[in-house]
Amino acid sequence: MTRSWQSKLVSARPKAPKGFRSLVTPVHRASTTLFENAAAVRDTWRHADAAYTYGLYGTPTTLELAARIAELEGGDHTFLVPGGQAALALVNLAFARPGDHILIPDAIYGPHRQMGENLLREFGIDVEFYDPLIGEDIAALLRSTTRLIWCESPCSVTMEVQDLPGIARAAAGRGITIAIDNTYAAGVLFDGFAHGANVCVQALTKYIGGHSDLLMGSVTVKDAMRYERIGSVHQLLGMAVSPDDCSLALRGLQTLAVRLERLEKSCLETAKWLATRPEIATVLHPALPGSPGHEIWRRDFKGSASVFSVVFHERFSDEDVLAFVDALQLFETGYSWGGTTSLAVPYLSLTRTAAHNQQKLVRINVGLEATQDLRADLEQALGSMAERALET
Ligand SMILES: *Cc1c(COP(=O)(O)O)cnc(C)c1O
Repeated sequence: MTRSWQSKLVSARPKAPKGFRSLVTPVHRASTTLFENAAAVRDTWRHADAAYTYGLYGTPTTLELAARIAELEGGDHTFLVPGGQAALALVNLAFARPGDHILIPDAIYGPHRQMGENLLREFGIDVEFYDPLIGEDIAALLRSTTRLIWCESPCSVTMEVQDLPGIARAAAGRGITIAIDNTYAAGVLFDGFAHGANVCVQALTKYIGGHSDLLMGSVTVKDAMRYERIGSVHQLLGMAVSPDDCSLALRGLQTLAVRLERLEKSCLETAKWLATRPEIATVLHPALPGSPGHEIWRRDFKGSASVFSVVFHERFSDEDVLAFVDALQLFETGYSWGGTTSLAVPYLSLTRTAAHNQQKLVRINVGLEATQDLRADLEQALGSMAERALET
C-alpha cells in the first residue's frame, strides 16, 4: 500500500539501526501500547498476565524502576505513584473500609495525619492516633475491627524511632496489615519487611530522587494477597507516574550510596555540634543518645540520614527562632528534604495529642555543602539570634 506524506508523518516505520546498547534505561513514554493482534487485546494491570497493556500500568522505564525498588527493599513487587502522599493514600484506600479501625502514630508526617483526621474519618473509618514509642503495648489498642497499623520510623519532625518488631509481635495472627513509611531510611537503612512490616512505603521524592526535582512515591509488598489488594486499587485510582521522572529516579539510584554516606557523616557532625550550643535545648537525631527511640535505632538501623530537628531554649521567643532561620545564608527554607541543598524549616507548634509535642523547633536537612561552611552559617545565625534576643 502506498502512503501519502501525511501518513508517513504519523505512521513511521523504524529507521534507526538496531543493536544500540548503553548503561542507561531508555525513557519509554506511552499512553497507548500496542498488542500483537486483535486476540491479544486485554485490560489487565497484572504484568504476569500480559506485560504491557496500557501506559497507565507501566512502560519498561517505570517497571525497571519499580523492580529495582522492590529488589532494594526485599519485596516482591513495587507500585509507583505520583508522590509520597499518594503512596500513603493508596495504602489507606486499599485496606481501610467504613467501620474499620486503623492506628496511626501521633507524630506521623503532617499531611498523613490530615488525611486520617479529614478524609478517612469522612469515609467512616475509625482513625486512632497512638504514642509512637508504644511498642508491644499497642496490644491494648487492638480491636476486632483493627485492619491497619501505620508506622513511620523515625516519625516526622520529632524523630521518634519506633519498635516495629514489638508492634508486629503484638499484632501477629490477627490479619492486620502493618505498613511502614520508610522514607527516612530510603528503603535501605532500615529493612521494613525483616522487622515485621507487610507493606513498605517511600517518598522517592526524597533520597531516591535526591535532587529536589521530582515527586514520586512507592508502595512495596511481599505477599500475593496484598499485591492483589493494592494493585487493583492502584489501577482504579489511575495513579500513573511519568517515565521521565522514573528516568531521573533511576539516575538517583546510581549515587544513592555515596550521597547517603556523605550526608550521614555531615549531618551527624552538624547535629553533635549543635548539641553543644547553649541556645539549643534538645537535638532530636536518632543516632544521638537521648533522642527518643535511640536504642531501637541502634538495634534495627544500618545508618542515619540527613534530617534532624533542634529545639530552642524556652528563653527564645517564636520571633527569635524565625529570625535564626532567616539569618541563615547557606541553608534555604522550604519543604521536603533529601536533596543536595541544606534546608531549615521552623515548626513553632505541632498538632500532636501525646507527650511528644515540642515547640520552638527547627527541622534541619543537611545537604552536600562543605560541613565546615554549614557550621559557620549556623554559628553566625545563632549569634545574630542571641543578639536579637538581648535587644528585645
Ligand atoms: C515527604 C514525605 C512524604 C510525602 O512525599 P511527597 O512526595 O512530598 O508527597 C511522605 N512521608 C514522609 C515521611 C515524608 O517525609
